[in-house]
Amino acid sequence: MEIAFSRLDERVAKFTITGVSTSFANMLRRAMISEVPTLAIEDVRIYDNTSVLFDEMLAHRLGLIPLRTDLKRYVPRGECACEGVGCPVCTATYTLSVEGPKTVYSSDLIPQDPDAPPAEEKIPIIDLAKEQKIVLEAYAIVSTGKEHAKWQATTACGYKNYPKIAISEQCDGCGMCIDECPRGVLEAGQGNVRVIEGRQELCSLCKLCERACLAGGIGTEPAISIGFDAEIFIFVVESDGSMPVREIIERALQYIQRSSDDLVDVMNEITGEGTE
Ligand code: SF4
Ligand code: SF4
Ligand SMILES: [Zn+2]
Repeated sequence: MEIAFSRLDERVAKFTITGVSTSFANMLRRAMISEVPTLAIEDVRIYDNTSVLFDEMLAHRLGLIPLRTDLKRYVPRGECACEGVGCPVCTATYTLSVEGPKTVYSSDLIPQDPDAPPAEEKIPIIDLAKEQKIVLEAYAIVSTGKEHAKWQATTACGYKNYPKIAISEQCDGCGMCIDECPRGVLEAGQGNVRVIEGRQELCSLCKLCERACLAGGIGTEPAISIGFDAEIFIFVVESDGSMPVREIIERALQYIQRSSDDLVDVMNEITGEGTE
């Protein structure tokens, strides 16, 4: 297996994995979406709410705000020594005290732990009119996207097979496929069409070029044909800001490794191997 990154910054990673099956690619995708823990607001104690939103709606909106998450700092509540009561080891506490007229943003949510603020400052929560007030305390805990989407660390996470573009000798360079391609992948060559260097992986496999070629009356087979490599996958992963995207990938891979090790242990128990 080979992994090559074409982009890796705090929020976005784009990489190609070569030599794996579709099952493996999908396992990695699902692990990144639903098995990487993050903080999200789970309980809200409302002291005052004279806004136009019900308490429940307000709490729901707060739950969806991504929070910076240091997983070395917080443990899931179920694994905490407080046995689910809630303590600083498993719970991040926030206060919100605002009065209108004002648009309330995520930055108005004040964290007790300065290392666990909202990931973005300008997420709008509600518009307050004159004399409307909200006073509350919110408690965030660690869980995974498997339990609820608010604990997903990714906002976008998907893959596609690596595109293969073949152009036959029948191509007369009419250029209809170039005009039709929405990704700007093709350009005019010498009497034919060719793929622009470095843009092949941008192809979305939409096959509009094939249709344009056929519409030009070339016959029953287009001169350009689109396929894909079944063992090469292009991933794009975007973090919601709760943690660097690199950490999301690493934690997803660790989850897969742990699960595989567990499975091997169970198999060894069943077959009696490794128990000596
Ligand atoms: S399949 Fe779509 S994106 Fe790819 S080259 Fe053809 S028209 Fe462009
Ligand atoms: S539409 Fe067909 S014939 Fe025309 S340039 Fe594209 S591949 Fe060649
Ligand atoms: Zn605790």
